[in-house]
Amino acid sequence: MALQGRPVCLTIGGSDSCGGAGIQADLRTFAAMGVYGCSVITALTAQNPRAITRIEPVSLAQLDAELHAIFDYFDVAAVKTGMLLDAEHIAVISAVLQQHHRGALIVDPVMVASSGARLLDAGAVDTLVHALLPLATMVTPNLDEAAVLLGETVTDQEEAARRLAGRFGCAVLLKGGHAEESDMLLDVLCDADGQLHHYRHARQPWGEMQAHGTGCRLASLVTAAMAAGLVPEQAVAAAAERFQGL
Ligand code: PLP
Repeated sequence: MALQGRPVCLTIGGSDSCGGAGIQADLRTFAAMGVYGCSVITALTAQNPRAITRIEPVSLAQLDAELHAIFDYFDVAAVKTGMLLDAEHIAVISAVLQQHHRGALIVDPVMVASSGARLLDAGAVDTLVHALLPLATMVTPNLDEAAVLLGETVTDQEEAARRLAGRFGCAVLLKGGHAEESDMLLDVLCDADGQLHHYRHARQPWGEMQAHGTGCRLASLVTAAMAAGLVPEQAVAAAAERFQGL
């Protein structure tokens, strides 16, 4: 069911104790976008914007039970995934989504935090690619994550977005290349039909607290917009518009 007319979104990812990224950022973004947010946590992290000092995985049984609790009750319009930790957690999530989720799935293929900590085991990329990405409506890699998914360094952002979209059969939002002007960043969306869309934005003079979690916030904005019925091209434009100040 939708809640009082608000679409229901689910974020699956890690808890960030300092609130800038992960589940906390996603729920804050969902609230700002007027959708109802549910959360399923894969791991607890002890962190501030400079460092992650400890990660405590949530048990697979707890993960599975939380996912079933949500899908048994809610009609989930869109799911976003973030920090997924390892292959075992991805396998549980993929199995439940495959069986129960019919709405949009936005996969933010989070691998390494900007502080340098690993948020996904290096050995779990295969499971991400083969179990979760085939279910995705949109995947939102940065340039480093795109290179891991492609198996080679990204030299041409548009070509990389196109190849990833072709390989995974979904829209790809490839974030953060440099546009012609040096202080401008470029996000490229390749939709599932192979059409390219460009979103240019100024590099923000942000401190570390505001920069922390920017990827999470952008992906959860897109998730909320898609839950409200927008197609990927419109959802990314709406997300770019709302991004400042969140
Ligand atoms: N912690 C959690 C739980 C996250 O999900 C993420 C990003 O997805 C991060 C930390 C990393 O955030 P950043 O690299 O923006 O600092």
